[in-house]
Amino acid sequence: MLDYYQVAELFTPEERQVQAAARKFLEAEALPHIAQWWEEGVFPKHLIPRFGEMGFLGANLPSAYGAAEVSNVAYGLIMYELERVDSGLRSFASVQGALVMYPIYAFGSEEQKQRYLPELAAGRLVGCFGLTEPDGGSDPDANMKTRARRDGDHYVLSGTKMWITNGNIADIAIIWAKDEEGVVRGFIVPTDAPGFTANEVKHKMSLRASVTSELVLDEVRVHKDQMLPKAQGLRAPLACLTQARYGIAWGAMGALEAVYTEALEFASSRVTFGRPIAARQMVQHKLVEMLTAHTQGLLLAWRLGRLKDAGRLTYTQVSLAKRQNVRAALQAARTAREILGGNGITLEYHAIRHMLNLETVDTYEGTHDIHTFIVGRDITGKNALG
Ligand SMILES: Cc1cc2nc3c(=O)[nH]c(=O)nc-3n(C[C@H](O)[C@H](O)[C@H](O)COP(=O)(O)OP(=O)(O)OC[C@H]3O[C@@H](n4cnc5c(N)ncnc54)[C@H](O)[C@@H]3O)c2cc1C
Repeated sequence: MLDYYQVAELFTPEERQVQAAARKFLEAEALPHIAQWWEEGVFPKHLIPRFGEMGFLGANLPSAYGAAEVSNVAYGLIMYELERVDSGLRSFASVQGALVMYPIYAFGSEEQKQRYLPELAAGRLVGCFGLTEPDGGSDPDANMKTRARRDGDHYVLSGTKMWITNGNIADIAIIWAKDEEGVVRGFIVPTDAPGFTANEVKHKMSLRASVTSELVLDEVRVHKDQMLPKAQGLRAPLACLTQARYGIAWGAMGALEAVYTEALEFASSRVTFGRPIAARQMVQHKLVEMLTAHTQGLLLAWRLGRLKDAGRLTYTQVSLAKRQNVRAALQAARTAREILGGNGITLEYHAIRHMLNLETVDTYEGTHDIHTFIVGRDITGKNALG
């Protein structure tokens, strides 16, 4: 790992092993093919059971439910390694673990946990998380038009979800809908239920090695036992987002390592006016800025992980790290692209793929500006959001 401050000394031996195993696996199975998958706009579905075998899915959840039960730092390092290859791979694992397994684990009944979590951990089932709707994602409470109407032992769900990662490859969808009292509820919806349609979003210029979908629910009937009994109100989906954003804070540093390393190697061998461009002050300045951002972000992610392991993590701390690390990685990817010159616009190099992916990462799971308002509200006590 790129590690200017020997942060890895702060990891346990098990955490270092988890990271080394993830890197070895991904360098063999994913890195050589990622540019092609991205260009063709396909997600490598064949890797899903392999991710399960590697323990990548919901890795910080209990082994009693089939998960790896590693520390939050080890979980973060898995996200780091996945995103070092591509934000799309990390997005798959974030959704499966933090946005599908976590809500079932935190808000589900024991029967739901026993039934779904081992299958999801093994990658035999795939899930997606439907919160965002076409009218806008930043204000999910006001924009939630999806409704759950009680009908005897069933709920009838109607509405449309937008920008849903894994939508077309999912077996189950966690759907957030308002009940007849206007309370947000979560449902585990089988995607083969009558009235459920997933339409893949095409022509994306970002996260191309990831499936993104519109979900249409037209009077989808689910048994009341499919409702997550402990999820009441918007706090439940927001708690899931905190889990996913935590992983993103780590993942973004993986992408930053990828673009920094590539830019450094290129700058060291590219000769102009008789010297490698790495010998030029302006190029060194750019590289040092990138390395500094990685060093800061890695320390931030590590501290966040230790707070999470201690049960002391706050959602505003996660907002600060998601906001900071993703924007830093996006800036670095743009700088790396610049250092690569014309080569930087091709998929022969990784920089532009990471750069375009990170545009999504900067927007989803709360935009950069929304996280500014979340932290701003925390420190000033004044709400700039509403
Ligand atoms: C590839 C991809 C995958 C995704 N995957 C999922 C998924 O799996 N599940 C899911 O539920 N969602 C998913 N999303 C949706 C994502 O979370 C939303 O795109 C995000 O929340 C922003 O919502 P929006 O795009 O509707 O933008 P809007 O909410 O319409 O915001 C537009 C702009 O306005 C700004 N803005 C909003 N409110 C304010 C304000 N009060 N003051 C100032 N500026 C403001 C925002 O920062 C943004 O720049 C995904 C999105 C993408 C692109």
